[in-house]
Amino acid sequence: MKIGKDSAVLVVGAGIMGAGIAQVAAQAGHAVWLHDARDGAAAQACDKLGATLQGLVAKGKLAADAAAATIARVRPVAALTEAAGAAIAVEAIVEDLQAKRALFAELETLLGADAVLATNTSSISVTAIANGMQRPGRLVGMHFFNPVPLMKLVEVVSGLRTDGEVAQAVFDLAAAWGKTPVHAKSTPGFVVNRIARPFYAESLQLLLERAVEPSVLDACLRGAGFRMGPCELIDLIGHDTNFAVSRSVYEANFQDKRYMPSLLQAEMVAGGLLGRKSGQGFYRYGDGGGVPALPAFEPASAPYAQRVVLHGAGPVADRLTLALAGQAFERDTASGWTGLEVDGAQLRLTDGRCASAIGAEVAVFDLPIHPSLGGRERGTPLAFALSDRASGAWVQAAAQWLRAAGFHAQRIADAPGLIVARTLAMLVNEACDAVHQGVCSEAGADAAMKLGVNYPAGPFEWLARWDAARIAQLLDALAATYRGERYRVSPALRRRSWA
Ligand code: NAD
Repeated sequence: MKIGKDSAVLVVGAGIMGAGIAQVAAQAGHAVWLHDARDGAAAQACDKLGATLQGLVAKGKLAADAAAATIARVRPVAALTEAAGAAIAVEAIVEDLQAKRALFAELETLLGADAVLATNTSSISVTAIANGMQRPGRLVGMHFFNPVPLMKLVEVVSGLRTDGEVAQAVFDLAAAWGKTPVHAKSTPGFVVNRIARPFYAESLQLLLERAVEPSVLDACLRGAGFRMGPCELIDLIGHDTNFAVSRSVYEANFQDKRYMPSLLQAEMVAGGLLGRKSGQGFYRYGDGGGVPALPAFEPASAPYAQRVVLHGAGPVADRLTLALAGQAFERDTASGWTGLEVDGAQLRLTDGRCASAIGAEVAVFDLPIHPSLGGRERGTPLAFALSDRASGAWVQAAAQWLRAAGFHAQRIADAPGLIVARTLAMLVNEACDAVHQGVCSEAGADAAMKLGVNYPAGPFEWLARWDAARIAQLLDALAATYRGERYRVSPALRRRSWA
């Protein structure tokens, strides 16, 4: 089965997503029929598309004849009967199961027996939408991301009864439209909205515990390569939208505590602190508002010490040698931890335990994983925490050692797994579970997270750079502290940790 360029495409729903899908299909050379239940909405969307394409021409990003040809291919249709010849219908109407079922029931009677029916739903089960159809095998999810013309990812979502050939035809079609498709199984959140949950949830948990300020949290995750930190990102998305997705994934998983939404966010939504659109979320917007920058990084040299031991091996241990220039030190690669021992006090890479659980003169620091780590860039924000029993002298010295190693050290409360380590561990864990349950492949998960939410690396790329055993150990330590379901290790990650 193949949906060629000469096949006509019907797009139903001329809102944000439908208009974008129509544009992409027309730019790929298809004749496109655009329909909306609201009178005049499809024609308006065509006018807007014309203006968008003209804007691209004016900026020199699109040839005038290509723009004219694209807009000429899109035709608003007042009645679905006018589009009976379409080879594929892509639905982007209201997110409501009954409305979608009713539409597909109508399309089944209007379109040819071979026509493919695709839904752009972001949260409804494709299996549920197909239930009641005469030929449920031809319904498939074609989940685009907003804004459609710019976002490369398309999740091709198969329900229980989706025909494999239909899914493959839509996969190939998305690729022909210049997108990167990823196969997914119809499960709550599909790939991106499921694997991404911990990116928000771990930060919301740290904020609920008052472990860290939003601006520090954001800076540390940007320091790990994310384009935006979770707080600024949620403020941009809107707390109401982000909370609705979190709730829907939680409810769809029969209230599995692993996906439990945040009380803090519930309160913000209830109070109308929705982010940029309401003028206040984690940050205030408007005059002089926005995301506060951290104070400038001030380099430091290492404090005086009589005996220093560098523990562990690998990129983090190597990086710490920056702090040891001109200082005599011993090495211990057999102790089982990475960090510095300074006159008996410890500065350790987090293993998921609180510093206070390890000892008195103990500081733990977050996972430095930025791609530029090898480049020894200085000034990357990095969280660290101190044992509740640490002396004042070690509190000062631990920060100074991290600064001497080139990190913009940010002290936070003694929260297990700090910021980056616990967030990445949970993202990897969720991705392992998704693959374990056949939702997507490892390559699919990596592509989806890099293209759907702009992650600097895919979860399986992090897993390869980090280590399954260490990630499982970190999550076990979090589970031991919190004693809940949230940090349970995926059976797939557990198995890898034994390898
Ligand atoms: P939207 O509100 O901008 O547009 C929906 C359009 O559908 C409206 O113009 C409405 O008049 C029309 N409509 C409603 N019921 C209809 C019907 N029965 N027949 C024909 N037209 C009908 O919504 P949107 O943001 O474009 O979302 C559309 C779909 O795409 C939803 O299923 C949504 O979950 C999904 N989606 C949205 C996003 C996003 O970021 N907005 C991303 C991915 C998927």
